[in-house]
Amino acid sequence: MRGTKPNILMVMLDSVRPEWLSCYGSAATTSPRIDAIAERGTVFETAIGPSAWTFPVMASVFTGMLPTKHGGHDEHQLLDSAYPTLAETLQRHGYDTAGFADVPYVGPSTRLDRGFGFLSNMRVPQVSLASKVFKAAGRVHRKVSGRYTKTCETRVLMGEALRWYERQRDRSKPFFLYLHTDETHAPFLPPPEYRRKFAGLSRTRMYEINQDKQLYVSGQVRMTERDFADLHALAKAEVAFFDAWLGVLLDRLERDGVLSDTAVVIAADHGDNLGEHGLLRHGLCLYDTLVHVPLIVKSAGTGSGRRVRELVQLIDVFPTLMTAAGIDEPATRAEHQGGDLAAQVREGRFARFAVSELYRPGQGLWRKKAPGFMPEFLERYDRRLRALRTNTHKYIWASNGRCELYDLTRDPGERRNLIDLEAGRAADMQRDLDAWLATFEAKEASATVAVEDTADERVFERLKELGYVE
Ligand SMILES: [Zn+2]
Repeated sequence: MRGTKPNILMVMLDSVRPEWLSCYGSAATTSPRIDAIAERGTVFETAIGPSAWTFPVMASVFTGMLPTKHGGHDEHQLLDSAYPTLAETLQRHGYDTAGFADVPYVGPSTRLDRGFGFLSNMRVPQVSLASKVFKAAGRVHRKVSGRYTKTCETRVLMGEALRWYERQRDRSKPFFLYLHTDETHAPFLPPPEYRRKFAGLSRTRMYEINQDKQLYVSGQVRMTERDFADLHALAKAEVAFFDAWLGVLLDRLERDGVLSDTAVVIAADHGDNLGEHGLLRHGLCLYDTLVHVPLIVKSAGTGSGRRVRELVQLIDVFPTLMTAAGIDEPATRAEHQGGDLAAQVREGRFARFAVSELYRPGQGLWRKKAPGFMPEFLERYDRRLRALRTNTHKYIWASNGRCELYDLTRDPGERRNLIDLEAGRAADMQRDLDAWLATFEAKEASATVAVEDTADERVFERLKELGYVE
């Protein structure tokens, strides 16, 4: 059964901007272990994600298509379309599939667990006994010491993944191992040694910085340039801590002689705003702060030590891994909206544009934390967005009519909206978007999934009741 199929390791770093990794230019060496994989593979310098937060991005990565086609997004937080997922496809072709995710969306509630023979999600109630015990110990420790960091989650996540690798997997089959870490997601609260090394901040200072999205965006809390600089440093410290733990798994694979024939994909689902565009954290926009993500692929055919500047997409991962696994399913491939990265690199033919989409955001937390801001919130953010990004420009269609156009070469920060100045270019890009939309059938939700709150908010409210988070 094993045959010549490679093992596959996919690592998703939640909410990580490329520049937080040293292989993308961070001056501090935040990611030595990821950098080492990059040296044996390809670093994609302009990788674009399909959306601005975890659920629609992962639904897209797992199906190889954009939210409008698979139907999973803010307004319908369920992957209930019939398109096969990456894990289902690999499983059908003889892979032992397992996922370890400490993010709330990857699980049965959103059906992103489809195709995983084993899925551990520490943020939903069906966690393992070991995780529960560890969590309980963490809560006691936190109460006694007054300290809280997220470190125990990464230790549990990697411990569970290692245990599966060592003891639980079916060794007669190649494996597909998917890790998704929330360590790198705000609030950035790295363990002390990483905080000191990468941010040089005291514990008091770390807790002093606002990390609450609603309070900042609604203007209830003001933040300084220094606050944002410190948040960047704390985010890098989180990356470094996770990188070290990823190293434990990579060492194990190396020791077993498994790493060399394992295809590895390391990416972030989306980035984070740290003050740009008047925003904090993610959601609400499709600017590059959120959709430009790190993407590193080590797999036969993508080259070694190569850096690719051309435009690629996160939805290219599924077709890339299908090729790596030697799976030829024309019907599955025909539905994909991206393409095999190895072929793109080999032939020097890349997509002319990348599309990202965002549906109308949930309002629950905004109503609760920023009631006075609601008129402005609805006016500015209660709309659907669809962005078409080329190597040089980005056009953003908005359902409320406030479309935007940016020249990314001259204005990479997307500060100067050229929609009126370059109406001709905007019209051309809208035509490209319309033509793209006409290439597939949009999935209309068969039943409305209540979105009074986003899954994020609902899950976290539930977790608070259970005492998992504060
Ligand atoms: Zn995310």
